[in-house]
Amino acid sequence: MAPNPTIAFIGLGNMGLPMAANLVKAGYSLVGFDTQPRQVDFPLADTAANAADTADIVVTMLPNGQIAKAVADSVLPAMAAGSLLIDCSTIDIESAGAIHATAKGASVDCLDAPVSGGAGGATAGTLTFMVGGEEQAFRRAEPLFQIMGSKAVHCGGPAAGQSVKIVNNMLLSTTMAGTGEAFNLGRKLGIDPQKLFDVMSTSSGSCWPVNAYCPVPGVGPESPADRQFEPGFATDLMLKDALLAQQAAHANEVATPMASQAATLFEQMQRSGMGEMDFSAMIKYLANQARPH
Ligand code: NAD
Repeated sequence: MAPNPTIAFIGLGNMGLPMAANLVKAGYSLVGFDTQPRQVDFPLADTAANAADTADIVVTMLPNGQIAKAVADSVLPAMAAGSLLIDCSTIDIESAGAIHATAKGASVDCLDAPVSGGAGGATAGTLTFMVGGEEQAFRRAEPLFQIMGSKAVHCGGPAAGQSVKIVNNMLLSTTMAGTGEAFNLGRKLGIDPQKLFDVMSTSSGSCWPVNAYCPVPGVGPESPADRQFEPGFATDLMLKDALLAQQAAHANEVATPMASQAATLFEQMQRSGMGEMDFSAMIKYLANQARPH
């Protein structure tokens, strides 16, 4: 690989565009591709394969596993043996495994590297990367992760990054639903939510949704609750990840009754028209539910 690798970046949406822009700002030579027209200050190719054929590293940031797999199938035949494919999309474990297998067949190194940190983290270059694949491929990608993010954890072999992302966000779905329930019950019992926060955030009920992302306006550090639940992390995206976890749990015959219920609740919340609100608006959705008798 050349000392200054050239990069193809495919999928220039809310996340991909600022990630690509940070690589360009750091001095990398980059060609982009998206199926939608994009106003960018770097060159664009007319197909994904044309973007990839002269690149040492191809990065993809796409909506779902079906699309990520189709794009990988179209770029891998154009990629030189020994080049590197990094898929940063959040996708199902089966599709991630299939991309690794196709890359191996083409003698291309491959990493699954989903992120947390949202569009704000993508713009600021402070994403966390959860990475699956061979150690030497991870080492090769580390300089890029350092530019696009502030932390990269090598989680294990192929698809381990997706597995960690899905498991973390599965837990988040249940802790956020539980936090909404707890504050709703506390309020009905006549307790000031600030007092609840003061106790829970330093007691056994402490968790990220209570301590760092409290769903009650004016309580705890600033959060989407202080901005009428403007995301943040949209309910639509939380539901996507919760359903990926259910798909993985089903495929591996793992009982996840709490997370299964949380996924159902986020699905109902989306159906009630709250999909574009921050996922912490679960507290509002739950407050409007009648208790079954
Ligand atoms: P997005 O919809 O804004 O961007 C996806 C881009 O992919 C779009 O520009 C779309 O036109 C393009 N695209 C679709 N099909 C394509 C194809 N065949 N070839 C080339 N481009 C194609 O989505 P996003 O918010 O940027 O999210 C991207 C990924 O990152 C998703 O997997 C998402 O789950 C994950 N993610 C998002 C966030 C977030 O807060 N937005 C946070 C963490 C992870």
